[in-house]
Amino acid sequence: MHALFFSSFIWFFSWTLLIRPCFPARILAGDSLGAVQPVTIEYEGASNETWQGFTRFLDAGVGDHVAGMSELKRYFSRFGYLSPLAEATSLTDVFDGSFQSAVVKFQTKMGLPVTGRLDAGTISAIMAPRCGVSDEDGHGGGGGHQSLKAVRHYAYFYGRPRWGLGSPSTLTYAFSPDHTVNYLEPDDVRAAFQRAFSRWSAVIPVSFEEVEEYGTADIRIGFYRGNHGDGEPFDGVLGVLAHAFSPENGRFHLDAAERWSVDFRKEKSKAAVDLESVATHEIGHVLGLAHSSVKEAVMYPSLRPRTTKAELKIDDVEGVQALYGSNPKFKLSSLLESENSSNHGGAGLQGIRSSPAAACSAAFVVFALLSCL
Ligand SMILES: [Zn+2]
Ligand SMILES: [Zn+2]
Repeated sequence: MHALFFSSFIWFFSWTLLIRPCFPARILAGDSLGAVQPVTIEYEGASNETWQGFTRFLDAGVGDHVAGMSELKRYFSRFGYLSPLAEATSLTDVFDGSFQSAVVKFQTKMGLPVTGRLDAGTISAIMAPRCGVSDEDGHGGGGGHQSLKAVRHYAYFYGRPRWGLGSPSTLTYAFSPDHTVNYLEPDDVRAAFQRAFSRWSAVIPVSFEEVEEYGTADIRIGFYRGNHGDGEPFDGVLGVLAHAFSPENGRFHLDAAERWSVDFRKEKSKAAVDLESVATHEIGHVLGLAHSSVKEAVMYPSLRPRTTKAELKIDDVEGVQALYGSNPKFKLSSLLESENSSNHGGAGLQGIRSSPAAACSAAFVVFALLSCL
């Protein structure tokens, strides 16, 4: 598997060097993407035009000078691995010590081998489509449940914000009437979100209710394109997929340039992104979870095209329960059992599925616009 991936990467990288020595042309959206850029999309870390250029940094290490490295430093700064101060003073194309520290932080957060170099696995992780929320967090988890697992990887935003809820605890959500995508049926979008919300409400004593009135809903969901007024513009196909804000902001934005899918049997685009997976991930941000370093967790920052990852893992569940407590009907033991059987090729997390639980899922997105809090 690794050998296959590595050879695919080399093939992609070589192809990029030979055919696309400079910046790639703009990727086209939708079904045409596969026809125009087949190699790009088959690559595990398929990403948008800007991030594709990062392949040129393969195997760079301390002391190396590669044209355009400053662009990668901006990426690291954006996602919380280089401080704005460091960025201001080191926006050169030199791989210096502070940049190496950022690479080490990134590799640690993403659960990669920590080499301090831009090896193939690291470049692949950097280029993977991901959530727009910064990976910087207030602190990791770790409270409670220590007997179940020694190390927790979930995280919260600075100040550990959460919704102050009365009883019964209900958060309302609404879809923007203006910011939609016209190729999806509204009922299909509603159903995908209903399943995504139900996963979280199955594990915490909080329920979610869809309402018509967008302006006054607690959680406001919409599809936006490019610069949409919150200082975090979307970037076209792949790259950043969506973002959401930490409590109690409630804004939940999806990149309208993505080819969103509610059913991969019908949506054939190689760049298609699973709406339910991203919705589940973003709801985690809305509730107060930051990014996890557990690759299998819904709150992990990246999600490949045509992939579903919507079932909550123990890491997700314990993170959100430390904020809100447990739903009395939820049985952690069944989740543990499911996860164990899943780790051995079993069927997954039936224990936490509420109702007709979605076969699809996934994880993604949100980005905590901490400056807006
Ligand atoms: Zn936004
Ligand atoms: Zn996210």
